[in-house]
Amino acid sequence: MSAPPAGVEPDAPLSRCTTIGTGGPARYLGLPTDDAQLAAMLAWARSEGLDLAVIGLGSNLLPADTGFDGLVLRLEGDLARIRVEGDGAHLGGGAALAAVVRRVGDAGLSGFEFACAIPGTVGGAVRMNAGAYGAEIADVLVAATVVGPDGPRRVVAADLGLSYRHSDLAPGEVVSGAEIRLVRDDPRAIKGRVRAMQDRRSAAQPRKARTFGSVFKNPGGDMTSGQILEACGLKGHAVGGARVSPKHANFIENTGSATSADVVALMVEARRRAKDQFGVVLEHEVQLLGDIAIPAP
Ligand SMILES: Cc1cc2nc3c(=O)[nH]c(=O)nc-3n(C[C@H](O)[C@H](O)[C@H](O)COP(=O)(O)OP(=O)(O)OC[C@H]3O[C@@H](n4cnc5c(N)ncnc54)[C@H](O)[C@@H]3O)c2cc1C
Repeated sequence: MSAPPAGVEPDAPLSRCTTIGTGGPARYLGLPTDDAQLAAMLAWARSEGLDLAVIGLGSNLLPADTGFDGLVLRLEGDLARIRVEGDGAHLGGGAALAAVVRRVGDAGLSGFEFACAIPGTVGGAVRMNAGAYGAEIADVLVAATVVGPDGPRRVVAADLGLSYRHSDLAPGEVVSGAEIRLVRDDPRAIKGRVRAMQDRRSAAQPRKARTFGSVFKNPGGDMTSGQILEACGLKGHAVGGARVSPKHANFIENTGSATSADVVALMVEARRRAKDQFGVVLEHEVQLLGDIAIPAP
């Protein structure tokens, strides 16, 4: 095997790259800081036949306890840039949503406030069509730069297949940049809305615990996943070091020593109860990485 390019380290624990704090090592972790480095890493992975995955802040990710036998990429440096321009911004795929919220808000640009309580990156948000409080990235996205096996291409938002927590991006396709369009507003009004959304969040969801956000997508119909799981008596239910949040039943917390297997066991139990008691098959929102699966209820 040829030596990895600069910026690639072997045996990197994924538990340090995820908000839930579980998971084994990535065989390689690459931290490209510009387009050229990203291209070099992708070419190396291809020439070595390595599987590829991209992560952002790992805020919606559950890696296997056995880790990931390939190259995991996390975008940094220029690939995490934020450039406000006119009524919009050019963003690197690795830019943190919280930083974008701050920068565009300070510039008097509104429409991105919804992302203030989503602890991910721009690339992860495009991949997941992240959203909150009735807004989602699809509402403001003009286009994304997607790097696939044939190099980078600009894909307009309408061609990304964005729907509820879904895009048509294939695993291993890298969102290296995004263009968003916003509307002018008073920065003080924008800040006020951000604060109100954050307060609402703190009241409803665990914010200090280690979680990966919503475990399951809402199934449609009258009840949210959280309401179904609460009615199933799951709040506080624990397996090993993982427990269903006592505050919100659609969140799983790592209480200190959880493994991804503990989390999976809780998810299996949650799906079983939701199916038995409500006839609903819940689909997981969290993304799985490596040799890990949630068996059918
Ligand atoms: C406390 C908390 C609250 C949350 N609240 C919300 C919420 O209100 N709304 C919501 O939608 N989500 C929420 N989430 C989930 C999560 O923050 C979002 O899904 C976010 O968009 C994930 O971004 P990330 O960069 O952390 O992606 P990761 O979790 O690292 O990865 C998620 C997926 O995106 C892919 N990905 C990441 N970066 C890229 C890239 N550059 N190119 C291509 N693919 C990429 C990964 O391969 C993976 O499939 C919450 C999470 C937490 C912990």
